[in-house]
Amino acid sequence: MVVLCGSQEGGGASAFAANTQDPDHQLAGRFHAATMVRNRPRTLGTWRVTTTSPTTADCVGQLLGGHAHQDPTTGRAEVLTAASTVGILLEGPDALHIGWQRSVNVTCDGATQDDGQHCACPAGLAARRAAAKRGDGCRPRLEVRFVLADAPAAGVFGFASEDWSLVEQASMLREALDGSRMPARARLRLERTLHTLRSGRVLACTRPVITLARADRKPEDPSATAR
Ligand SMILES: [Zn+2]
Repeated sequence: MVVLCGSQEGGGASAFAANTQDPDHQLAGRFHAATMVRNRPRTLGTWRVTTTSPTTADCVGQLLGGHAHQDPTTGRAEVLTAASTVGILLEGPDALHIGWQRSVNVTCDGATQDDGQHCACPAGLAARRAAAKRGDGCRPRLEVRFVLADAPAAGVFGFASEDWSLVEQASMLREALDGSRMPARARLRLERTLHTLRSGRVLACTRPVITLARADRKPEDPSATAR
């Protein structure tokens, strides 16, 4: 069987910059680290990919395993892949955009909220994380734009996350990518974590992790005990 991983309309270089509010129709598809089960998000051990293109869904299924099926209500195709790690290419620092949000309708650039109010977000990421934990700061939202290393012609995919650890990794990655050769090879991974509840019950979760392929080792995670 021939893998149809042809180029997608609108999936060109313009869709690479994640710092514009690109509508999803510019993307070939989206990666998800969770799914909704009875209206509650549940983390996944393998990547879930949604797309409006059946061709892209087939391509993802062939590449990462899993079968494409179409949601009859949205018309959107979905593949629950067999892959927890995906090789990706990042076009540059702008492929990783960290946005800030105070509430559903109020976003922030770290200094000013979009309603013109001065934002009290502290400057450093660690301080910001602490402030958000106290309920006194903005929440981050990371938007990643990438192509699949094994099928770049399939187009640009997106992945969004509000995970603080991932945001910290992305922030370091942005600095590492600045001035280096592009595109950069990276890995998007779902890492298994265990959480012990107060009751003593152990809960298995996954957390998204992004690393440069060259230095694919576990980054220092000062937050690991703080969650
Ligand atoms: Zn803010």
